[in-house]
Amino acid sequence: MNHTKKNKVNKTILERWQIDHARDLYGINKWSSGYFDISKKGEVVIHPTGKKGKKSVSLMDIISGIKDRGLGMPVLLRFGDILQSRIMRLHESFNHAIKEYGYQGIYRGVYPIKVNQQQQVVEEVTHFGSRYHHGLEAGSKAELIAAISLLKDPEACLICNGYKDEEFIDLGLYAKKMGFICCLVIEMPSELPLILERAKELDIKPMIGIRIKISTKAGGHWTESSGDKSIFGLNTTQLLSVVDQLRDANMLDCLQLLHYHLGSQIPNIRDIRLAITEAIRVYEGLVLEGASMKYLDLGGGLAVDYDGSHTNFTSSRNYSLDEYCADIIEVIMGTLDEKGIPHPTIITESGRATVAYYSVLLFNVLDASCFETYPIPSKLPEESHELMFKLMDVMQVLHIKNLQECYNDAIYYRDEIRQLFKHGSITLREKALCENIFWNVIQKIIKEVKKLKTIPQELEGIETSIADIYYGNFSVFQSVPDSWAIGHLFPIMPVHRLNETPTRNVILADITCDCDGKIDRFIDQYDVKNTLPLHDLKLDEEYYLGIFLVGAYQETLGDLHNLLGDTNIVSIKISKEGDFEFIKEIEGDSVEDVLSYVEYDTKDMIARFRNLAEQSIRNGLITPKERKKIMNAFRSGMRGYTYFER
Ligand SMILES: *Cc1c(COP(=O)(O)O)cnc(C)c1O
Repeated sequence: MNHTKKNKVNKTILERWQIDHARDLYGINKWSSGYFDISKKGEVVIHPTGKKGKKSVSLMDIISGIKDRGLGMPVLLRFGDILQSRIMRLHESFNHAIKEYGYQGIYRGVYPIKVNQQQQVVEEVTHFGSRYHHGLEAGSKAELIAAISLLKDPEACLICNGYKDEEFIDLGLYAKKMGFICCLVIEMPSELPLILERAKELDIKPMIGIRIKISTKAGGHWTESSGDKSIFGLNTTQLLSVVDQLRDANMLDCLQLLHYHLGSQIPNIRDIRLAITEAIRVYEGLVLEGASMKYLDLGGGLAVDYDGSHTNFTSSRNYSLDEYCADIIEVIMGTLDEKGIPHPTIITESGRATVAYYSVLLFNVLDASCFETYPIPSKLPEESHELMFKLMDVMQVLHIKNLQECYNDAIYYRDEIRQLFKHGSITLREKALCENIFWNVIQKIIKEVKKLKTIPQELEGIETSIADIYYGNFSVFQSVPDSWAIGHLFPIMPVHRLNETPTRNVILADITCDCDGKIDRFIDQYDVKNTLPLHDLKLDEEYYLGIFLVGAYQETLGDLHNLLGDTNIVSIKISKEGDFEFIKEIEGDSVEDVLSYVEYDTKDMIARFRNLAEQSIRNGLITPKERKKIMNAFRSGMRGYTYFER
């Protein structure tokens, strides 16, 4: 490990490092929505209600509690208090807008189970949501079964989306019969005949909703469900055909809900307004057709400001929760009041905005590989190859006016010299010297580039080539799959030492050793950063980082990449006095667990290993006592955590 301080982050912030510098550098006050801040001691603290006050807990105190209990890193922390606060804010924002505009209907939130299906999460959503009659959205049979087992509130909505077979429909009908407001939302025309058939067979009157395609095409990563070509939802002709079939069956009164889903993480409020403007006209049309419309379900899309920029960038949003609610209410009233149509109950299926803030992934840094150059001799040995002299010349002529040219030349000569090495024309030591000169040139270019107002395209991001690499004890694929799959940005920062100047510019690598197992794009207020400023590692102290806002979508997409399994999970409750309790610990997967997921018979593996060891005794390679030690190591390896244990 190397502890030199060559990659100084920024001269101006070295003057006197203060907590406010750390706040700005990592943007914590911009993306934390009030739930996270930095203490005077330079540690990240949690404010469970999103408001500053006495009641805050340091993540380092939690880490120390985790260590005392013998749990290893990485750990996923869940803060029930934050979840409760999110649900409260959502309802209070809507209720505030409803009151302010004099809206005649009410708001009912539902939580889409797919966003984080873990039982504990869904259970807590229904528990904290009960005072607001917060319901659930199920997109599959399994999710409906989970929803029915957890939802108790007859005033909460249970929305059934997704493609529905006979069993799914029957379950939904039974839920309705048992007193739930359970709506079967038609996503495809073929579902209607089956619903009608099952309803007749079971003699249960269904509550029916229709999902429509919205022609508004919204921007963002996840918006393929909007626009004319979206996979789900009915077009206008299909919609009217459903209406006609229901009318023919004398069941038009069953049609009560209109649904659309524009996609997740809609960064631009304009798209949200356009969609609701279109949808409310369809709602009006259905009322005029004679359906007993009561509910308007706007789906998900309410975005999270992951980078704190408050813009229409994909990792952000250019609106607040209050603006979102106010715009929806205003558009609905603006249209319906013209025709004297009663205001519907508004449903949103806000998943991301409900659970993203709730979880934090903590991990330690195992090692670093730091960029380093060595001083180069003032003169090359006389017998050096002429290309070496040429490369050396680049160093000499380098000037702010010829950076690009020098960059191209340096790469050219380095590559030529590498060829010479391959042909045996230069020695290993000469090659090392060449590389060292090359990196000295690059470093000098980077220094000059920083002085330029506009950076030539080719030199953009050149500083990442000399970034340090920190190896984190986690798996990108398991814990932040969206970072790998779609380049989604999450706030990442150290959770301590924030009263010290960070002196290194870093790219994060995980322990999978997969070339995609890295993070080299970080949030920034105006753009995306290619490196993350971090502190030097100390030999005698662990360095802990947190990845924040990972409560939505990241847990259930995680696969078993490299057989790194689920991380340990700890749920934390914060008391009025600012103490905290570990209310639930879920141990992560052991090696044995993940092997059994991929169908290994672990007993059989031990038996085989025992035979192998026995054979080694017979061959005189090990003693019976050594066999015992080796067997114990194998067994405890099986029972161990799949991550790096110190
Ligand atoms: C995924 C999904 C949601 C959740 O969207 P968020 O943007 O996370 O709130 C809601 N409704 C449907 C139909 C979905 O597919």
